[in-house]
Amino acid sequence: MSLLEVRDLHVVYGSGPDAVPAVRGVDLSLAAGGSLGVAGESGCGKSTLAHALLRLLPPSAKLTGSVRLDGEDVLTMGWGRLRAVRWAGASLVFQGAMHSLNAVHRVGDQIAEPLAVHGLATGAKARTRVGELLEQVGLPAARASAYPHELSGGQRQRVMIAMALACAPRLVVADEPTTALDVMIQAQILRLIERLVAEQGIGLVMISHDLAVLADTCERLAVMYAGRVVEEGPAREVYGAARHPYGRALSAAFPRVGDPASRRAPRGLPGDPPDPAALPSGCAFHPRCPDAVEVCPAVDPPLVETAPGAAQGSGHRAACVHAAPGLLPSGPGTGAYAAGPAAVTDSDPTAGSRA
Ligand code: ADP
Ligand code: MG
Repeated sequence: MSLLEVRDLHVVYGSGPDAVPAVRGVDLSLAAGGSLGVAGESGCGKSTLAHALLRLLPPSAKLTGSVRLDGEDVLTMGWGRLRAVRWAGASLVFQGAMHSLNAVHRVGDQIAEPLAVHGLATGAKARTRVGELLEQVGLPAARASAYPHELSGGQRQRVMIAMALACAPRLVVADEPTTALDVMIQAQILRLIERLVAEQGIGLVMISHDLAVLADTCERLAVMYAGRVVEEGPAREVYGAARHPYGRALSAAFPRVGDPASRRAPRGLPGDPPDPAALPSGCAFHPRCPDAVEVCPAVDPPLVETAPGAAQGSGHRAACVHAAPGLLPSGPGTGAYAAGPAAVTDSDPTAGSRA
């Protein structure tokens, strides 16, 4: 069984004519101890997805589909169970979290809070555990008595990671954990996250707009555009041999430090992601797509296997008419699709075997 199985997840903020469909039919799987990077420009729905995984969205958000953590659906479990699962089953490092520590409490007390809430430790036992956690994230145990303003941005982010690890979760979701940090500190924090999840066998969902950062840290990558996953596969393939034009554009926009490609100016993708409340017809990427063909404004292609993997879980999927034969039109100008074997449903035949 997978640690995390997301099936046909939709999140809509609000209702009626002002409804914002921020996540539209996302399927994802993560094996226990595995790592998945989620990339995409600002506004693509990454943070909405991250919050949905722990059901942390505001009441205006309507969720459908399922988010199974160790087989249990987070979206339908009772509040008591949900409180138990948060922190102890899965924890979230919030986007911009290092600015959201409580300014008037010592960081050690803030790390101790989830321990107390989950009945894991209080008093001297909690202080010992907080010291251990701080040392795990590379801070002296004595920093427990510091207030957030006494710490640098990188140190505050280390505190947030210590909090996320406090209750020994099986899954950590990290939403842009390094975006606000300078490049040197960013690399240190990424290596820290990588080391901790590997040592402790924690599953990691890491979110970033920077595909190169994710490719260095995660085994698999998912690329989101306008609320959908448009490409998903092994990191070395999605970053470097992307099959979706948006995946290719993101790879080109974020060359890896040290790559020959990084000596060229990053090629930006013109335009912006669409407003989710007013999506283009067909494939939402078509107005910006260098490879768009006549049918693209008419059909939103399903996410299909482009290279069935030899090993379980090594599949590479893309949602593009060019990614799978059979999704292209059967004749010039007809706009009709060939009824090829790839023109199948949205479901991935290998999805269930990704554990
Ligand atoms: P990302 O993290 O990829 O930048 P978000 O998930 O933050 O994307 O946002 C996706 C879309 O949902 C955006 O259009 C954003 O404006 C909208 N959105 C996010 N939060 C809310 C909210 N609380 N109410 C209404 N719309 C929201
Ligand atoms: Mg975000």
